[in-house]
Amino acid sequence: MKRTEVLQVSAEFYPLLKTGGLADVTGALPAALARAGANVRLLLPGFPAIRAGVTGLRPLAEHVAPWGERAVVLGGTWNGHGIYVIDAPALYERPGNPYLDAHGVAYADNHRRFALLGQAAAALGNGLDARWQPQIVHAHDWHAALAPALVHHARHRRPPGSPSPATVFTIHNLAYQGAFAASTFVDLGLPGDAYHLDGVEFHGQVSFMKAGLQYADRITTVSPTYAREIQGREQGCGLDGLLRKRHNVLSGILNGVDTAVWNPAADSAIAQPFDARRLARKAINKAALQRQFGLARRPEAPLFGVVSRMTEQKGLQWVLTGLSELLARGGQLVVLGSGDAALEAAFRAAAQAHPRAVAVHIGYDETLSHRVFAGTDVTLVPSRFEPCGLTQMYGLAYGSLPLVHRVGGLADTVVDVALENLADGSATGFVFDAFDGAAYGAALRRAFALYARAAQWRRVQRTAMGRVFDWDAAAAQYAALYRSLLTTERDHAVA
Ligand code: ADP
Repeated sequence: MKRTEVLQVSAEFYPLLKTGGLADVTGALPAALARAGANVRLLLPGFPAIRAGVTGLRPLAEHVAPWGERAVVLGGTWNGHGIYVIDAPALYERPGNPYLDAHGVAYADNHRRFALLGQAAAALGNGLDARWQPQIVHAHDWHAALAPALVHHARHRRPPGSPSPATVFTIHNLAYQGAFAASTFVDLGLPGDAYHLDGVEFHGQVSFMKAGLQYADRITTVSPTYAREIQGREQGCGLDGLLRKRHNVLSGILNGVDTAVWNPAADSAIAQPFDARRLARKAINKAALQRQFGLARRPEAPLFGVVSRMTEQKGLQWVLTGLSELLARGGQLVVLGSGDAALEAAFRAAAQAHPRAVAVHIGYDETLSHRVFAGTDVTLVPSRFEPCGLTQMYGLAYGSLPLVHRVGGLADTVVDVALENLADGSATGFVFDAFDGAAYGAALRRAFALYARAAQWRRVQRTAMGRVFDWDAAAAQYAALYRSLLTTERDHAVA
């Protein structure tokens, strides 16, 4: 079968630049899609970490932005995958986070920084690189969302019959929308009539997210449950009407776990590799984690872990309000995360008050995150909403049973330890329904109750570790989606 040529467009790419799950996804997809019959190239902004990591970069073509800025599209490779990088130093060569300045404030010119990403993607889709023509442009999150809009509008300006790529837009988190003042519209490169209720206008602003949702040929999001939830008011972030209108082209494809990175049997970051048959070795990781964090060396204490961005989304207030119960029952808590200053301070204060039972590392540390999943008994993910969530999947893989709110991808990946699920061997964690402290507290008590039954706990751990959330399964669904676009819409020739 002929391979599908796909351009993936993203602001993040693991392992070169990551602030969240988006990077894990775009990092894992190229290899998985290659196995599923697609040739993938990536387009990334020329952030310092990207430029430093991509090898053999050389200029391919120039792209002039609507505001006159000249950017050079560079071509290189990473680990055998073709990567395009946008060289625009005035926009991208800034230290730290791709979106925020050193004070945690969004850069004032973010609309240009990410408009350029969409514009370069559309240019590549429309033949910028004479030696490679993508059939599909697949844009991720609002940062890349102008790409489908620009490809759509270019179709109508192309000579009759000339091919134009089909577009796919993936929502990793609908809550981050890239909304900017209406005055920025002139920088986007869209025709004037796109500033419209049925275009990119959103409550008097321009919305990059809306551009992707409005114009992409297909929309996906990262779990089937989230695909349903965002069509409702509560989780639709004001875009549920548009998503309902486009429900025929919207689907959920569950993320996978990159087992080349997340495999407890072959993880060089952890104290002692282990697997479902050698679970006793997990205790060595627990002891190492307790030692590293200065916690009491109590092998019998259930050790709970959090690896998370600290934002309102993540429901971490329940971890704080439930802490006294967790401690009263003899548990310990390790937290790795950063973000919201009030949450950081609250967790720091908890660690100071209970130095032998609560430990907090404020910051971002990939190696430490592996150690937390390997060393803890329970991974806490009580998110208010969660498009897919990866940490509960890492918890499952490392035998750290997830305790989660029944929402989004968390609902799709964790099976509660209800009696019937224990009986049929499907249970993998603790799931609570209402988003409140009482429901969280009840799930916490279920975790303690199961922990007290060692044999049953082991059985659930083994089931959890056997759950395979496979990138190959996800990639097969993306590949099928791409193929359906090519066969049904004939390379998008517009007459
Ligand atoms: P989101 O994308 O909303 O942040 P996900 O669960 O999809 O949530 O992905 C989060 C990713 O970021 C996971 O790979 C997780 O391990 C990682 N992560 C989050 N916070 C930290 C941290 N402080 N240190 C290391 N890794 C982190």
